[in-house]
Amino acid sequence: MSNSYTPPKADLGVKTSGQYLACPKCQSTDLSKLKRNSFEKNPGYVCTSCKAKLRDASSTKTLYAYVVLGLVWAVLDRVFAHSVYSLAVGLVAVSYGVLKLSRPVAVSR
Ligand SMILES: [Zn+2]
Repeated sequence: MSNSYTPPKADLGVKTSGQYLACPKCQSTDLSKLKRNSFEKNPGYVCTSCKAKLRDASSTKTLYAYVVLGLVWAVLDRVFAHSVYSLAVGLVAVSYGVLKLSRPVAVSR
């Protein structure tokens, strides 16, 4: 009988095209996926070592689209609708995009 029992690996680490994604801050590969929400299919990851919230590199286009569409929406509101509520919708989209774009991108190793 051998004593070399290896405990099952924790369900950590996110693989994309054969490579593990890593935290750009602490280089840890112990990332866990954030739950998907109604705005994004892949809202990103959280680093279990330093608790940094990261986003997926593929989210960049989507997030810029939120910013641009939000700005267009806000400008159209100012020209045609003049409603505080529809202006708010545009500004929420812009802030969501800007906020997420400010997160570091998970790197693959
Ligand atoms: Zn980290």
